[in-house]
Amino acid sequence: MTTYILGAGPAGMAVADGLNDANGGDFVLLEKGPHLGGLAKTVTWNGIGTHDLGPHKIFSLDKELVGRVETLLPSIDWLTRDKISSIYMNGHYLPYPPSPFSLAGVFGVPAFIRMVIGYGTARLASLVGSSNPNTFEEDLTNRLGAPLYEVLFKPIAMKLWGDPRELDVKLSRGRVQTPSLIEVLGRLLKLKKNSDFEALTFRYPKGGLGRLWSAIEVKSRTTGKFLLEHGVTRLVADKGRIHEIHYQSAGTQGRIEVGPNDYVVSTLPLSLTTRLLGASLPKHLPELADKVVTLNDLLLVFLHVDCASLFDESWVFVPDPNIVFHRISEQESFDPEMTRKGSIVCCEIMSGPGRPLAEMDDDGLCAAAVKGLADMGYSGFRLLDQRVIRLPKSYPVFRTGFEAGLAELIQALDQFENFRTIGRQGAFNYIGTLDAMDIGYGFADWLSKGKPQPWQQERERTNHYPVLD
Ligand SMILES: Cc1cc2nc3c(=O)[nH]c(=O)nc-3n(C[C@H](O)[C@H](O)[C@H](O)COP(=O)(O)OP(=O)(O)OC[C@H]3O[C@@H](n4cnc5c(N)ncnc54)[C@H](O)[C@@H]3O)c2cc1C
Repeated sequence: MTTYILGAGPAGMAVADGLNDANGGDFVLLEKGPHLGGLAKTVTWNGIGTHDLGPHKIFSLDKELVGRVETLLPSIDWLTRDKISSIYMNGHYLPYPPSPFSLAGVFGVPAFIRMVIGYGTARLASLVGSSNPNTFEEDLTNRLGAPLYEVLFKPIAMKLWGDPRELDVKLSRGRVQTPSLIEVLGRLLKLKKNSDFEALTFRYPKGGLGRLWSAIEVKSRTTGKFLLEHGVTRLVADKGRIHEIHYQSAGTQGRIEVGPNDYVVSTLPLSLTTRLLGASLPKHLPELADKVVTLNDLLLVFLHVDCASLFDESWVFVPDPNIVFHRISEQESFDPEMTRKGSIVCCEIMSGPGRPLAEMDDDGLCAAAVKGLADMGYSGFRLLDQRVIRLPKSYPVFRTGFEAGLAELIQALDQFENFRTIGRQGAFNYIGTLDAMDIGYGFADWLSKGKPQPWQQERERTNHYPVLD
C-alpha cells in the first residue's frame, strides 16, 4: 500500500513521520513549492541569514505531542524562550494579557471603572444563565463585557478579519481565551506561575522550523519520497475512489495511478480540492467552497535593520487602525544565530475586502511598515534591506454560519473511500503548527491501524483546538 500525501506543510509532514514511525507502508509526498514546511517553512535571505515566514512558536498544552515533536532533534538543539507579548494602543504599550493597572494607565480611570463593572457583570451573568452567541461580537461582549471588548478586541478583529458582527462565534472561541477569575487573581498576586490559557514559554528549534521538516525527510528516506516542485493539477475519481493524481513539475505534466489499496491524504486548500476533482463532485461545490472558505491575504514585510534588536518582546500586537501592520516580531528573539548581523524584523499586514492592501507594491508596503515602526517610537535604526513575501489566501476568516456549508463540502469529499482532506487549509481549521502535526499524526495512526473507528470520529477529536497566543 502506498499513501500519497498532498502538501508538505506541518500536517503533511506529520503524516509522513507518523507513517514511518508506525511502519504504515510507503508514501509519496507531492509539494508544489521548492521547500518543505508550508506556512511554517524557513527561508534564506541571501547574505543576511534565515528566517521563518513570521517566527513561529512551538507550543501546545498537549505534553505528549510536544515530546514527540522534540524527539525529531537532539535535545541541545531545542531552545526555550519566555513568551513576552505586548499590545500597542493609543501611543502606549500594554502587557499581553493586559493587567488592570495598565488598562487604567492607557484608557484613564473612568473608562477603566466601566471596564471592571462590565467585566464583573459579564462574569456574574455567565454564572447564573447560559447564553448562545452566534457572532464574535456577541460572544466577547458576553464574556468580557462591552467596554473591554470595544477598546481591546473589536479593533484587532476589524484589522484581521473585518466586521466582528459578521464573524462566527467559532472564531472568537478558538482565538480569544478568557482567564478564570482565579487565574486573574493568581497572576495579579504573582501566586500562579503557569497558565491554563496562554503560553508563558515556548520551544524553538535552533536554526528555525525548517530543521523539523529536514529531520523528518532524513528519518523517513527509506520509506518515502518527497517530490518538491510537484504541483497537483487534477484528481480523477470514479466509483467513489481516487484513481489518478495529475501534477505539473518543471513545466511537464505527470500522472500517478492510485492502486486499489492506496490512499490519498490532502492538505491542499479546500476550494482548490473541489476544483481539482472537477466533474467528480456536484457542480455547485466549487462555488459553495468559495463562499464558505474565506481567506484573507497575509503580506509579510521583512526589514533588515542595523541594530542587534529593536524590541524585547516576542510579539507586539498592534490593533491601532492607523498603523499598517497588526503584529511585529524579530527572528533574533527566537534564535539570535539565524541573523548574521543586525536584526530581521517581520511586520505582518493583513489584506482583505475592507482593507485591500495586497494592491500596494512592495516598496509601498515596506515604506508603510517603516513609518509604522517610527510612529510606535522605534527610530535610530538604519534600514539595510527589505523584502516582501506575499501569502495570498492564507488567513482563515470564519463568517457567521460557515459551518453548515463546510460540513456539506467535507461530507462530499468523505464519499471517496480512499481520500481524506486534513489540516489548516485542507479542512478550513484555524490551527497552529503543532495542531496541524497532531492531525497528521492522528491520520497516520488511524490509517496504519486499519481505520479502527470512522474517520469522522477522529476528525471530531481535532476540531476544537484553542489558539493560545
Ligand atoms: C505569519 C504566520 C505566523 C504563524 N505563527 C505561528 C506560531 O507562532 N505558532 C503556530 O503554532 N502556528 C503559527 N502559524 C500557523 C502555521 O503556520 C499553520 O498552522 C501550519 O503551517 C498549517 O499546516 P498545514 O500543513 O495544515 O498547511 P500549510 O502549512 O498551508 O501547508 C499546505 C501545503 O500544501 C502545498 N500546496 C498547495 N497547493 C498545492 C498543490 N496544488 N500541489 C501540491 N502542494 C500544494 C502548499 O505549498 C503548502 O506547502 C503561523 C502562520 C503564519 C502564516
